[in-house]
Amino acid sequence: MEEIIRVENLTHTYGEGTPFCRSAVQDMSLAIYRGEFLGIIGHTGSGKSTFIQHLNGLLAPTSGTVFFDGEDIHRSKEATRDVRFQVGLVFQYPEHQLFEETVYRDIAFGPKNMGLNEQEVDEHVRFGAKFAGVDESLFEASPLDLSGGQKRRVAIAGVMAMKPEVLVLDEPMAGLDPAGCREILANIAEYHRSTGSTVVLVTHDMDVAAENAERLIVMRRGKIALDGAPEEIFTHAAELREMGLGIPG
Ligand code: ADP
Ligand code: MG
Repeated sequence: MEEIIRVENLTHTYGEGTPFCRSAVQDMSLAIYRGEFLGIIGHTGSGKSTFIQHLNGLLAPTSGTVFFDGEDIHRSKEATRDVRFQVGLVFQYPEHQLFEETVYRDIAFGPKNMGLNEQEVDEHVRFGAKFAGVDESLFEASPLDLSGGQKRRVAIAGVMAMKPEVLVLDEPMAGLDPAGCREILANIAEYHRSTGSTVVLVTHDMDVAAENAERLIVMRRGKIALDGAPEEIFTHAAELREMGLGIPG
């Protein structure tokens, strides 16, 4: 299997040099393989969100290195910028990602910055909107006027509109009703299957993890506690319970 992302000895410390200083991720090393569907689970505060924000260069390591296609993503400003288009990241609170005047412009932000022409941008916007279930009748609305669930869908659409090679989603189902969750999960699975893209899905839902991921990582206190196929991970029932995680029902 070919590596697409490699993380070496990653540590991230918030507020370094202050009394509140604390390492949210501690000396983590991990390879992510091209085309795999990786699930990341762990109790609140275990460092999942901090970790995944390093995969597209949004956060810079306090120490350690993140490689994309074998190269340090922080080797230059241009390189870090380019990685943003290849590794699409849907935040845990994506409503904070919306800042344009209209839904259309918000979804178009990524593809425009990729340097696509107007027609390509339009095609990408429609692809993203369809993927995330954003009706075209909302294109001229202000993102501020949308419901929580709609905002989340627009944020997902904006990331999908880049057709990223690696798709990273941080608890993407929060705020959606059960039908909406199923629909988004099915679309993620279809995107993964049909494009061979790599997917990293952060979720606290063990059933979702078990049903979708080919490999699971369990995080505990900023480190990897378990790494393996779901059926292997779920044999560690006592350890998972101790971490506040159940096994799928
Ligand atoms: P998870 O996504 O698993 O809930 P996080 O990465 O959000 O974990 O948080 C890991 C730890 O880092 C927690 O103790 C959290 O309080 C802390 N943390 C997260 N974001 C920040 C921040 N911006 N500033 C300071 N501490 C933070
Ligand atoms: Mg989180």
